[in-house]
Amino acid sequence: MNSQINNIGESIKRILESIPPGVLLLAAAKTRTLEEVEAAIQSGVTDFGYNYVQEALPIIQTIGNRAKWHMIGHLQQNKVKIAVEHFDMIETVDSWRLAQSLDRYCANLQKKMPVLVEVNSGHEVSKTGVLPEAVDELIMQMSSLKYLCVEGLMTMGPRFGDPEDSRPYFKATREVFERIAARNLPNVEMQFLSMGMSNSYQIAIEEGANIVRIGTKLFGDR
Ligand SMILES: *Cc1c(COP(=O)(O)O)cnc(C)c1O
Repeated sequence: MNSQINNIGESIKRILESIPPGVLLLAAAKTRTLEEVEAAIQSGVTDFGYNYVQEALPIIQTIGNRAKWHMIGHLQQNKVKIAVEHFDMIETVDSWRLAQSLDRYCANLQKKMPVLVEVNSGHEVSKTGVLPEAVDELIMQMSSLKYLCVEGLMTMGPRFGDPEDSRPYFKATREVFERIAARNLPNVEMQFLSMGMSNSYQIAIEEGANIVRIGTKLFGDR
């Protein structure tokens, strides 16, 4: 085992010790090799996130159901069919059009897909995701889709040097989460808040995150 792979084991041990029970460590695996992903599994990681379907496919096809696979990047319409065939959760639903398309392909497979709605909590023009004030309407529409189950929200939030600056965006996303949970909509089971990355996951957990998406702190610099 080379030293880089060894470090993955130590990093994961440290991260797992630093997160409370009930918080899922999702390894953000973009640019990582099959060997790195295997090393993470050996050290107890169960869930991996990918930004691109094409990058994930060979890894998913090799590892299969020894791990769970989350789509955490923007999902293009022309990748929906293949995404629903291979992923266990889509964290980045951000339009009614995408939701309908996912539902249609899941219906073909007779597969009920857990999804999160991605929130653009920083109101950033350059970012994907639904604005916090538009999430309710989208989820009410999605509630009619039989092959999707809305299980929560995901947000990136603006990037800051000081993770404390991320706190208001995590708080705002949590508020939307609570508001929607209280509506008790059909096909909506609000359970997951996916927020926080390598530099901000502690703050995100303080603000209610129960999925943290960690890349560099787990695998090393890209
Ligand atoms: C890369 C990525 C992460 C992890 O970022 P790190 O700073 O490397 O921990 C989390 N979420 C998404 C959507 C990402 O693309």
